Amino acid sequence: MTDKPRGQRDSWEDIFWEPHKYNERRKLKTGLYLRSFCPHCNKELMRNDMIHLEVVSPSDETGWIELSPYLNVFSRKTDIKLPGGQEVKDLLCPHCHHTLLIDGKCCGVCKSHVASFLIGVSNAKVPFLICLREGCHWHAVSPDDETEIILDDSQEW
Ligand SMILES: [Zn+2]
Ligand SMILES: [Zn+2]
Repeated sequence: MTDKPRGQRDSWEDIFWEPHKYNERRKLKTGLYLRSFCPHCNKELMRNDMIHLEVVSPSDETGWIELSPYLNVFSRKTDIKLPGGQEVKDLLCPHCHHTLLIDGKCCGVCKSHVASFLIGVSNAKVPFLICLREGCHWHAVSPDDETEIILDDSQEW
């Protein structure tokens, strides 16, 4: 403790984290900027202030998709047609082109497949899961982290 330089702990937590009243967990607030990284090559996924990913549509068209990096803000842009209500076939890192799909996990709402990338939380990077079905806004932090972190469920879009 004593050799920790002063100022190492910035005010990030004070600004964005609020203690949850009923337990020891902390809550990520709606609107929090999620700095995102590829879990495979570790490169940042941000481009033009959006989470920029490669996407494969249900009809095998390849393009890009940009997701809002703000928690519970679901704006997005894409250069291909993604039919509503259908799962996209794949989401990939734009740098290393590795798939971000996760085997053995499914959406907590519609049971579709999910993809995962890392988000910077405090001084750590934790897996963030999103549903692959167009129009489904389900997302979660990995179950391993849920004891520490809960997501703000208010729905502001
Ligand atoms: Zn990558
Ligand atoms: Zn879903």
